[in-house]
Amino acid sequence: MKSQIETTEKDTYLYFWKIGGIGIIQCLDCNYQKEIVSFTHGLNTSTTGLQCQLCGQFQSIKDWHNNKQIHCSCGGILEREKKLFCPKCKSKKIQYNMSFIT
Ligand SMILES: [Zn+2]
Ligand SMILES: [Zn+2]
Repeated sequence: MKSQIETTEKDTYLYFWKIGGIGIIQCLDCNYQKEIVSFTHGLNTSTTGLQCQLCGQFQSIKDWHNNKQIHCSCGGILEREKKLFCPKCKSKKIQYNMSFIT
């Protein structure tokens, strides 16, 4: 029997679920920077970050639930499970610097 521990290809892409709090994303290709919310919560509300898959705009939605599909003003769908990409040049080489954890 082959007992080989597969070293899965390192996924260096950025996803909302990999990051927390509020931070600055930076595109490594075009140097675009923006402060985004990944997830924060208060006493009764939470704020969840989503990205439009069409125009790349980041939006923070209050009390978002997984099963709720939200459309961006451009008509695109806001997603949380997809790779983050730069809204400007569409590059997926994005770096995230957390500014604070909630
Ligand atoms: Zn870019
Ligand atoms: Zn959009």
